[in-house]
Amino acid sequence: MNTKTLISNGIVVTLGNNPQVIEDGAVLIRGNLIEQVGRRDEVSAEGCTRIDAGGGVIMPGLINAHNHFYSTFACGIALKDDPPANFVEILERLWWRLDKALTLEDVRYSSLIPLCRGLRAGTTTVFDHHASPTAIRGSLETIAKAAGEVGVRTCLCYEVSDRDGPDTMRRGLDENVTFLKAHHDNGEDTMLSAMFGLHASMTLSEETLFRASELGRELNAGFHIHTAESTFDQKDSLGKYGARVVRRLADADMLGDKTICAHCIHLDDAEFETLLDSGTNVVHNPQSNMNNAVGAAAVLRMLSMGVQIGLGTDAMTANMFDELRVAHLLQKHVTADPRAGFVEACRMLFENNRRIASKFFTKPIGVLEPGCLADVIVVGYTPATPLHMDNLWGHMMFGVPTAPVRLAMVNGQLRMRDGVVLGVDEEEVAIKSRELARRMWERW
Ligand SMILES: [Zn+2]
Repeated sequence: MNTKTLISNGIVVTLGNNPQVIEDGAVLIRGNLIEQVGRRDEVSAEGCTRIDAGGGVIMPGLINAHNHFYSTFACGIALKDDPPANFVEILERLWWRLDKALTLEDVRYSSLIPLCRGLRAGTTTVFDHHASPTAIRGSLETIAKAAGEVGVRTCLCYEVSDRDGPDTMRRGLDENVTFLKAHHDNGEDTMLSAMFGLHASMTLSEETLFRASELGRELNAGFHIHTAESTFDQKDSLGKYGARVVRRLADADMLGDKTICAHCIHLDDAEFETLLDSGTNVVHNPQSNMNNAVGAAAVLRMLSMGVQIGLGTDAMTANMFDELRVAHLLQKHVTADPRAGFVEACRMLFENNRRIASKFFTKPIGVLEPGCLADVIVVGYTPATPLHMDNLWGHMMFGVPTAPVRLAMVNGQLRMRDGVVLGVDEEEVAIKSRELARRMWERW
């Protein structure tokens, strides 16, 4: 792991706490770490494999802080009932049928496809939240293996729920525990991490919530859970569990700086305070929220209070640049204020996602600085206007996403070049995936 690679002849955008834009810059990678970043004439090139960035932008790989690989086979599926008219119907008529029809082989191909798509769009780290209630055991290892083949860094968990009865719930607990024991706090493995997953307050009994909390805390794990994604999570529409979701999570001792609460739409200021005081991470998923018609999270409010909010796709896309654009536009739309959302969307993707993700790996990611894990992408973007620190977000929002990602390096290894995921036959994967999806559609 001591090979040296120099990526040069591009504009280096470091991001991080002290972001820099370096014209004619270079990044030196040794093994899986970044060793040096600077102007080309400052960075040692001796004994390196050289990669020419072709004048493009050299920047950190992107991070998706909330995703569901398992949803891949939903594309084009025909619903069996009337179109769902609310969020619970979306779950009951689509997702809770689809996930129960998945085999472990389906899980593998459902993962390979978005992993490759994401990598081609510059996403080098994904936090996934998995469900396959009739194929639970080994499902996380199946995803981990697929991620290893594509070469994407992942943090995985299984979504425990009471919706399919006590045996399935227990298998979900077991899957989290088994995977956490193998991959959480595991020192040298910088490609894989784990959390304790739970579906959502509305499908979790008090007993299950407390049992999951106990098991997770014994392993020093963070929790990853959908939180107030719809009003149903607060209003007890399923008729079992009454309290407000943040109160329940706090009472179960699940909040904290390694916990991710996805969505956080239907919360009030007191609940934001609770999230802030506990250091809990929130992940905003604007495209999914708009698609499910569940409302818009008050991200401007949360950010102004100091809550750490990152950005995820909730599997609506594998492309974080798409999510960035929608996060920006949604805030303008809901506030009717043309000043809203632009800086905040950039902060969520380029600052907060790396802060959240770096908690789960032994070295920092999402920044080009010496000592950080070498996740580097090159975007074929030749700015048509001056690019410097004062207007960086303008280029990151309106310029860089318009250009193709030419290269993706993860953990110091080149994994994608010119749209081709190295070491994976994407055509073969797609053919197999279509066949598996066709069979799954017959079963579901
Ligand atoms: Zn989700």
